[in-house]
Amino acid sequence: MKWDEIALKIAKDIEKDIMPIFGKKEASKFIGYSPSGDKTKLVDKIAEDIVLEHLLPLDVNIVSEESGGINKESEYTVVVDPVDGSYNFIKGIPIFGFSFAVFKKNEPIYTMIYEFVTKNVYEGIPKRGAYLNGRKIKVKPLKLESISLSFYGNKDANFLKNVRRFRILGAIAVELVYLAKGSLDGVVDIRKYVRPTDIAAGVVIARESGAIITDENGEELTFNLSATERLNIIAVNSKELLDIILENIK
Ligand code: MN
Ligand code: MN
Repeated sequence: MKWDEIALKIAKDIEKDIMPIFGKKEASKFIGYSPSGDKTKLVDKIAEDIVLEHLLPLDVNIVSEESGGINKESEYTVVVDPVDGSYNFIKGIPIFGFSFAVFKKNEPIYTMIYEFVTKNVYEGIPKRGAYLNGRKIKVKPLKLESISLSFYGNKDANFLKNVRRFRILGAIAVELVYLAKGSLDGVVDIRKYVRPTDIAAGVVIARESGAIITDENGEELTFNLSATERLNIIAVNSKELLDIILENIK
């Protein structure tokens, strides 16, 4: 299957239907609860329906934020967050994106994150690389005097005093691709909050751009293809920053 074409078509169809309500109150209309207990809002529901409309006919397994898991006994599983950062969307903050990750058995084979406002397409293909609009991207080298970090967790950690710029943007999928393209040095969420649907694509794109991705103990991050598991994640551009963070969050 041409996963890149399928992903982009879904993203563009979502864009067409949600952008007219960007920043509008109706976008926040309460629809119900997702399997992980989060509120599904109108914007989420519109986007989710488009995802299902495209993926159900392909007879692949689907793990999506609002509908949970749909098992078709396929060897392919698509893990989707139709709109990551939907609170930003509702509030008129232009940082939100579509996250799409294809797994064959349990291994990722293709991932995409699409940013609706900039129209940037990020792709991660295991062992081949990470791309922004078709051009290879790399994490930036760490400079200790100008660390730029997204950090969700207890703000008492000592090293945080030395962070030059906090960039806590409210859309972890998007934050992970900002790490991948060198705009951030790290993305940390140690609240046991993020789900596989939020990060499945972002971790591949970040890893392929040279990032190191671990759990709160510095072990390689692993997760199930599930819409409800809650994870801690540390994603950084360097071993040096990883060590500083691990040392400080104990
Ligand atoms: Mn999300
Ligand atoms: Mn979402």
